[in-house]
Amino acid sequence: MKKILLFILLVAIVLASVVLYNTFTFKSKQIQVEPVAKIDIPATAKDHMSQAIQIPTISNANPADFDSTAFDNFKKFVKDTYPLTDSLLEINYINEYSMVMKLAGTNETLKPVIFMGHLDVVPVPQENRSKWSADPFGGEIKDGQIWGRGAIDDKISVIGNMEALELLLGEGFSPERTIYFCYGHDEELGGVNGAIPIVNYLKEKGVEAEYVVDEGFAITKGMIPGIEKEVALIGTAEKGFVTYNLTIDIAGGHSSMPAPESAIDILSRAIVKLKDNLFPVELSQPVKDFMTYAGPEMPFVQKMAFANPWLFESMIMSTYSKTPSGNALIRTTTAPTIINAGVKDNVIPYQAKASVNFRILPGSSIEEVRNHVVEVIDDERIKVEIGDFASEPPRASPTDAFGYISLEKTIKEIFPEVLITPNLVIGATDSRHYYEICDNIYRFTPFHLNNENISTFHGIDERLPVADFEDAVRFYYQLIKNSGRAL
Ligand SMILES: [Zn+2]
Repeated sequence: MKKILLFILLVAIVLASVVLYNTFTFKSKQIQVEPVAKIDIPATAKDHMSQAIQIPTISNANPADFDSTAFDNFKKFVKDTYPLTDSLLEINYINEYSMVMKLAGTNETLKPVIFMGHLDVVPVPQENRSKWSADPFGGEIKDGQIWGRGAIDDKISVIGNMEALELLLGEGFSPERTIYFCYGHDEELGGVNGAIPIVNYLKEKGVEAEYVVDEGFAITKGMIPGIEKEVALIGTAEKGFVTYNLTIDIAGGHSSMPAPESAIDILSRAIVKLKDNLFPVELSQPVKDFMTYAGPEMPFVQKMAFANPWLFESMIMSTYSKTPSGNALIRTTTAPTIINAGVKDNVIPYQAKASVNFRILPGSSIEEVRNHVVEVIDDERIKVEIGDFASEPPRASPTDAFGYISLEKTIKEIFPEVLITPNLVIGATDSRHYYEICDNIYRFTPFHLNNENISTFHGIDERLPVADFEDAVRFYYQLIKNSGRAL
């Protein structure tokens, strides 16, 4: 008995020593960089951002509602507003409205860098217009903020890039490395007419990019439990996307004499099975990278957990699982989104259909999701068909490559107070189409995101502080300079 107790005590001491050793040697990965002097931003910059918002480049779900005038006006706006960019860069329009601008470098042996963004915005439904504190397409500047659809998604990137570029060109800037600026005009619809043909165009030209930077994350405040400071998140991967359409066809009939099982019954059971058998939780590479970078900056208990995932994994997983956004970081999610059956209340339909959307964790695949769906439903009468659009989850981009290092350095130069960490983007961005020409894809937009303004994304009162916009121009100015150099 005594021996057993002694053994248990010994194991506990060894465990505690390992845990504490790992915690105390869990060193900060934050880099030290000299901040750069704040450059002056011309007063006209914010007015240009306002004008860009006033051009309603809306992506409507129905192609018939496409407003070509707005997109033509945007072209004209770029030409009139950015004369140096217009004359010194090689500009090509793909499918008429998506833009590829090339700033040729002096050293052709260096792989180019690609700055991405998108020209389109989501619509503002008529019933929401009255809930806005400003005209969503008015571009009004009041209370130190620029108001309107596109302010943070994603005209900040496009106009931020162009203002920075125009300033640099005015100073005679000429990079060693070629820099492309690529803006799709249908990101909100999946990039079929924008990002995909842009990538095809670049592929034809033989472009293999050193790195790509797109939207996806920002400088967050109060969004990482345990960290009070602002944290700039750089998306090193995003989740994959697939929808499976489930269809069942069996005999219908009159509802006064129902058969034991109807199409609706069978389909409902399948959906319940899918929700009862969620995908397992898992720490994917980008989330592991997040823990390595964020962990050392956390209070002792969280730091200890992140320093010892081998021991605390189940605790970490249960904490993540508590919120929908946390849950989405650790598993492939299952979301029934459409269900259709029946036309009359006294007729049993012979057909029922449902769509279930899955967001796939890096490390898994579309094929794995399909196998899971078929296995869990376990009913051959249900047809399982893939939806129109699907994308595999990419592998995580490295944190020791030129792109990540350039972003990290630039963020610290412009926002010296913030912590920086990689993380997994839950939503989908146009950058997923760029893996064909690049392995190192990062997602970051330089503005401040918090629990208050996050709802304005695709929502009501989208706006951007003028100060944030000017910092975004400074950020892109610096990032173009840092990226234009050799490795
Ligand atoms: Zn966007």
